Amino acid sequence: MMRIATTLLVALTAAGVGTVGSQQAHAGKRSCSERTGILGVSRILEVDTTGGPRFGNMQYKDIDFLRPGEVVLTFDDGPLRPKTTAVLNALEAHCTKATFFMVGRMALVDPSMVKEIDRRGHTVATHTWSHKMQGRLGYARAEKEIELGISAVSLALGKPVAPFFRFPYLSDPRRMQQHLKERGQGIFSIDVDSLDFRTRSGSTMVRRTLAGLKRLGKGVLLFHDIQRSTASGVDMLLDELAARGYKVVHLVPKKPAATLPKYDRMAKREADRRKKIASRRPLASRSIVWPVSNASEFPAVKPLEITPPGLFRGPLPERSGRPRAPIKQSREELARDDPEPAEPHPKKRARAVNPAAKDSSDAAALRGAFQEDWRREVFNN
Ligand SMILES: [Zn+2]
Repeated sequence: MMRIATTLLVALTAAGVGTVGSQQAHAGKRSCSERTGILGVSRILEVDTTGGPRFGNMQYKDIDFLRPGEVVLTFDDGPLRPKTTAVLNALEAHCTKATFFMVGRMALVDPSMVKEIDRRGHTVATHTWSHKMQGRLGYARAEKEIELGISAVSLALGKPVAPFFRFPYLSDPRRMQQHLKERGQGIFSIDVDSLDFRTRSGSTMVRRTLAGLKRLGKGVLLFHDIQRSTASGVDMLLDELAARGYKVVHLVPKKPAATLPKYDRMAKREADRRKKIASRRPLASRSIVWPVSNASEFPAVKPLEITPPGLFRGPLPERSGRPRAPIKQSREELARDDPEPAEPHPKKRARAVNPAAKDSSDAAALRGAFQEDWRREVFNN
């Protein structure tokens, strides 16, 4: 039933299996074709997202597109320049490619980083506007999160992004899956979770990822390019993947994502607003420029993989796989960074009428933690 034509394109395979690794690659400044012990890209899959195909066996078992030993590298929640740059340099040292599921408001903070990721040959995809849990939102707000995310990342990139989408926290209401299906967006779940948000240690992240991958033998790997453990451990992880003979599959879109004009306008307003604020408070904007190395030595590879069109036009298959434990997210968090907030929740209205009804200490504590490090608290999947 599922037929994905496959062609081996670039065989940058680990010739002698061993941990030659990224440091040597950095040091030698050799071209990708001269390097050994690196991951490279074993094949490129061009994905037709017409009809909203779903990938990733943790939630969906619709499409088994990977061969044994194959992995897809994905990085969520960024960009965040210092950490994203570390990830990009590690990927470059291994001459390999990944997909970045970006958060719209993060992309608008640093459009040049978004462009840099694209320039280095990676796939730019989206992960909503502000990382709210879709299962907690009504249709209108959930749609805005998705669409404003696509428009904002496209605006930051300066051209259309890939029509690849990942739900924050993997919270995937059926009505929003239907929306994505109608919008021709591929839905990407995961197979192996690096759990990088649970540790600050790169080696712990590497150990957990390899253990998860060993159990499955292949899969879509989830990392976060805003997490310290990933920024520090990704080099080691790629070395280990190469040493163990894993192959990287790079996903590219057959067609770019289309944006909706209403949300393009909203994204533009947000970008302008941010520029205005930055010009009034120059210190508030990024004042440090991190060096980014040259990517000109990347081999030009042409995707040949085709996912047959029309294959995913049937009804959504039943949900499968184990459900994810819900992650608590307060109403206050949900309301943050919403450029045009919707109606308040009925409970909140009731609270406004009744001043005796106060926030619980738990909610207050949660907000405190959120302010302390909102990325760690919110972007944990
Ligand atoms: Zn996320």
